[in-house]
Order: sequence, then C-alpha cells, then structure tokens
Amino acid sequence: MKKYSLVIRIIFLFLSTSFILKSCSSMVIHSDVESQYVPYVKEFERHYGSTVDIAGIGTSKLEGTKIGICWFMFRSITIDPIYWSRATHLMRESLIFHELGHCSLYRFHDNRVMSDFCPFSLMHEYAIPQTCYRRHRQHYINQLFGEL
Ligand SMILES: [Zn+2]
Repeated sequence: MKKYSLVIRIIFLFLSTSFILKSCSSMVIHSDVESQYVPYVKEFERHYGSTVDIAGIGTSKLEGTKIGICWFMFRSITIDPIYWSRATHLMRESLIFHELGHCSLYRFHDNRVMSDFCPFSLMHEYAIPQTCYRRHRQHYINQLFGEL
C-alpha cells in the first residue's frame, strides 16, 4: 500500500466524500453519538489510547448496499438500522471501527486479502465476514492502529 502524507489523505477523503454528498439525497448529519454506539467507540478509544474527535454517530437508512458512511467533512457517521439490528457484536464492532478508521484516523480503503482469503485490513471496502473477524481480530486491530 502506498503511503500518503496526512494532508494528501485529507484532501483525498474530502474529494471522495464530496462526491458522495453530491450523489446522495438522504444525507443525515449526526451531532451526537447515539447510546447503542457508545460501547464500540469506547473500545476503539481503548485501543487508540486517546479519545476520538467526532461530531456524532447516528442511524439512518442508507442507499443500496451501504451499511455505514463517514461524512468526513462533518466528522459524522451514519449507520444503517437494518444491518445494525441483524448484526452480531463482532460485526457491529468491525463496522464502527471501519467508519472511525475513516473519520478519525484518515484511513483509506485497503482491499488486500490474506492467504486464507480474509480481508487484510478492517479498512476493506466490504464488511469483514464474521469468521474472518473472529479469526484475525487482533491482527485487524494491530493493523488499524499500527499504520498511522
Ligand atoms: Zn469505508
């Protein structure tokens, strides 16, 4: 994976988010972290070793197959309610960590895969299969926070 400076990463995220904003008619910006997401944010902060600076995490139906979005310009995350209601604890954790990876750590998508075909990174653009997340959770966390 290429390394980019923080400024380039922010510009890149701004541009990609702008495109999403223009093409998305149901943008909802949240200004608080809803209570069901708080335990996952606290777990993220425990691994991060610091508090995260985000405006909010809220719930709204998302278009197509999207299950979560980081509105980077607003430091706000939207989670799809149907996915959340059906997701296990591990699936919920991997989704919140992924979106906080965008909104808090300025991370891009990383679509590499491992030899067992599990995604290499929590920042894979598709949701991590639960079997992979259970098997490689510590690797995913190390990879997310170790490559800042
Ligand atoms: Zn993403």
